[in-house]
Amino acid sequence: VPGEFELIERYLRRVGAARSDVVAGVGDDAALLRPPPGYDLVATVDTLTPGVDFLADTKPSDLGYRALAVSLSDLAAMGADPAWALLALTLPSADEAWLEDFVVGFDGLARTHGVALAGGDLGRGPLSISVQALGLVPAGAALTRGGARVGDFLYVTGWPGDAAAGLALLEGRLAGSGANRAWLVGRFLRPEPRVGVGQRLRGLASSCIDVSDGLAQDLGHLARASGVAAVVSAESLPLSRSLYALVGEREAQRLALGGGDDYELLFTVPPQRRERLAGLTGAGMPACHCIGEIVAGQGVRVRSATGDMTVAGFDHFKV
Ligand SMILES: [Mg+2]
Repeated sequence: VPGEFELIERYLRRVGAARSDVVAGVGDDAALLRPPPGYDLVATVDTLTPGVDFLADTKPSDLGYRALAVSLSDLAAMGADPAWALLALTLPSADEAWLEDFVVGFDGLARTHGVALAGGDLGRGPLSISVQALGLVPAGAALTRGGARVGDFLYVTGWPGDAAAGLALLEGRLAGSGANRAWLVGRFLRPEPRVGVGQRLRGLASSCIDVSDGLAQDLGHLARASGVAAVVSAESLPLSRSLYALVGEREAQRLALGGGDDYELLFTVPPQRRERLAGLTGAGMPACHCIGEIVAGQGVRVRSATGDMTVAGFDHFKV
């Protein structure tokens, strides 16, 4: 049975992109990283626990992807350029097949975004996966949750609600097959962190948050941090064709508002910058949809043609 150092050497030494700003990486006491002058360092950490954050039978490669994706999504929400990651893994046994497959998912996404695995920790115990991701943003240019102002318009990337439906399909709470099932399950297992969108929103969005616990709940965090209220129009929510086909419009809207695991970006744009945003989406940025506006007051209201809707989000301590 290989030991910790052998496993690190064999599987974790050359993971992700090679970066010249990693002065010392995997294998030294600590990672030595050289941020360029004039940049702020953005740091985030996420832990995945079986049964809470993923299903027990999830493929290791999907876990490797997800563990990094959720942290990159947080960097995207701050408008940062991802640079480095640290990985802390606790495994019940020295399972080389598991580790090899896990690294495939992690490495692929890391390379896509130019992220170097610069260090970490490997130990024995109940399965637990923690990833710290570090990114760079020009000093003072980071996006935060606190900058939304009355009159700003509210946007979301992609198709919220898909991931919640994908999870329901995997858990057998929802029935579906074929291309719709494949799309929705894929959106749950392989969320695409909106890194490129976050970068382009610097100097454009007044506030930003990534949607991990449900759009309505995360919008509540943004509104509270900004000292404003938000109004969402249910009919404006972008719904994927697969979600619509499988559950119908009303339930699709509910999933888009209350389902978790989307990892889309939710952001606000002042009226005078809306045209610039439209120009970006014309120039290759994934489409962002205007779903509402910022008003005076507090809380989140969802208006629909048939009256106001109430939605619940996800909270680890309230399940
Ligand atoms: Mg977040």
